[in-house]
Amino acid sequence: MRPDEAIRFLRQFQELLAEGGFVATYKFALLQALADLSVEHHGAFDGSLSLHVEQIAEKFIEYYWNQARPFQQEILKQNTSGQAEVVCLVEEYREQVDGKLGRLQSSHTPWSRLKRRVAAIIIKMPLWKLQTVGNRKNEFLYRESEYSNRTIRLLPGVPEAFRVFHPLLTSMIRGGWIAQIHRIKGNRDILGPGAELEEFLFGTDRGSLARYRELLRNHQAGECFYCGKKVGNAGDLDHFIPWSRYPLDLGHNFVFAHKGCNNAKRDHLAAPVHIERWRVQNLDEGHRLARAFDEAGLTNDLKRSLLIARWAYEQGFASGARLWVRAGEFEDCDYRWKAALGVAGGLRLAADEDPPDYQ
Ligand SMILES: [Zn+2]
Repeated sequence: MRPDEAIRFLRQFQELLAEGGFVATYKFALLQALADLSVEHHGAFDGSLSLHVEQIAEKFIEYYWNQARPFQQEILKQNTSGQAEVVCLVEEYREQVDGKLGRLQSSHTPWSRLKRRVAAIIIKMPLWKLQTVGNRKNEFLYRESEYSNRTIRLLPGVPEAFRVFHPLLTSMIRGGWIAQIHRIKGNRDILGPGAELEEFLFGTDRGSLARYRELLRNHQAGECFYCGKKVGNAGDLDHFIPWSRYPLDLGHNFVFAHKGCNNAKRDHLAAPVHIERWRVQNLDEGHRLARAFDEAGLTNDLKRSLLIARWAYEQGFASGARLWVRAGEFEDCDYRWKAALGVAGGLRLAADEDPPDYQ
């Protein structure tokens, strides 16, 4: 694998993890299955690898087998609404064999039946959704048009990339998987306070998020950043450059929005129309905002926020990210992001005119 191919693969993989929206955790199981099967099987001469959906189903059963046990007292939800179908199935079979996967695997009929049923779910859902990023397909792992006899073919080079980067990809997949389990509302009571360890270590204090929100609500005259309409209820604080892409809380990166608009945008980068507004509202108004943040004791750094935004769009541009316009509407990340952000002619800001004290 050439270095440029490796970088391209990793970029696309990152984009897929950052953007592909799933209600269930199947995306993670499927990516892990493709990575593991690339290690556990010989590929073809041309560097491709054909995989039968039942091979993928076996992997799903392995992964979900332990996850279908109760954690504390209850089984964790793997779907934003109710339980994921695969978990229900696995749970049902677990009971029949007293939780012993080996026993199930050695009893031919029920094992084949479970594999077939899980395979049917994989075909129905994640297999065709996995490579959709911002409502468009980027078929860099396998092509849907090549699917036949219930078999997909990992494209030449893909199995090798999975083998070379297996530890890195596994920790990325697991990180995403755990984060999704945390996000599912139904799991909050089951997980309890101990589960907030990650948030405790790497997240932000909720109290300061509420203060950021009120400050920005004021700054935006109570209107939603994305749709411009009044926000009647508490509203949401949105990370303009999504937290999943760069987990840092800096004042200028926040915008106040409807819960619905925030949820629709999710972990996508916003389209130029929003970048432009963000520049005008947050960067051009940067000093005024900074004073307000300072008075409220909230972390902010105008220049760093801009550098992080520039970095995020550079990466998005290189990996073919889809930019969010409004619910269900996306566009390509083309060169226009630069002009919208005001960095077309280099990185210059109104803020540059009076440099901070330490310079
Ligand atoms: Zn809105």
